[in-house]
Amino acid sequence: MRRICEYLDPADDPVDKLRGRDVVGESIGNEDKDRLMNYHIHPIPALKDNYIWLLAHRDTAQALVVDPGDAAPVLAYLQAQELTLTAILITHHHADHTGGIAALKAHYDVPVYASIDSQHPLVTHKLAHGDALHLPLLDLTFQTIAIPGHTLDHMAFYSQPIVFTGDTLFSAGCGRLFEGKPAQMFDSLQRLCELPDDTKLYCGHEYTLSNLAFAKQVEPNNQAVVDHQHYVDALRAEGRASLPSTLALEKQINPFLRAKVPTVIQAASQYAGKPLSEAWQVFAALREWKNSS
Ligand code: ZN
Ligand code: FE
Repeated sequence: MRRICEYLDPADDPVDKLRGRDVVGESIGNEDKDRLMNYHIHPIPALKDNYIWLLAHRDTAQALVVDPGDAAPVLAYLQAQELTLTAILITHHHADHTGGIAALKAHYDVPVYASIDSQHPLVTHKLAHGDALHLPLLDLTFQTIAIPGHTLDHMAFYSQPIVFTGDTLFSAGCGRLFEGKPAQMFDSLQRLCELPDDTKLYCGHEYTLSNLAFAKQVEPNNQAVVDHQHYVDALRAEGRASLPSTLALEKQINPFLRAKVPTVIQAASQYAGKPLSEAWQVFAALREWKNSS
């Protein structure tokens, strides 16, 4: 098999570069790091600003993809790297995350995993919150986390220390509420926040810079936001992904995870024109504010 580039090569991994900075907090434990060495995780840019995440096992050359909104770039990557597709994971039903399933299935007859609440006709295996998804060919088990809000069928796939968050949690932002209610989305984000701080977040879109611009509107004096903006500016200028992020970093820069921080409560209350006491109300005001900004 052809050698695929080192996952933990700092040049390929923004979080490794960030690790030297205080903003990231504790580094990943040795055991997780050793385990990750067996895998290669690559963002395949698709459509306008989607990332289709591909995870491959180095020894077996088996791979899974998350949210293939388009088949062509996935097929090209699999072929170039001499990988075999073994599973498709779907975080939610939107076309920019599912549009490539049919064409991929024409080449590889693989299972398609999604939430039990998914109505998508091409899903073959439905999972409930807390289910263990064991993928023997990848020697990997994911725990599913139901995170409704952006859509009602939204699900995250977690295998310490990585999580695929789809359109629920972005770097410095979160998804719009197309189907769920604000309190529900707030709870879903809280659920993700309970994962260890060093969890690496693999999100569905490259929205980081516009999200950071909004974060700066909410918290003009948050130095972590300003620093990260400079960092991501440089990454994007080189055409590189701003992801994965880490939960530790997001807790410092993402206003939607900071609904209990006094300056954020104050800014959201000012936007709403009334004092907001509950964290989910602060979250709801931020989401409205972002929609209109
Ligand atoms: Zn979506
Ligand atoms: Fe999307």
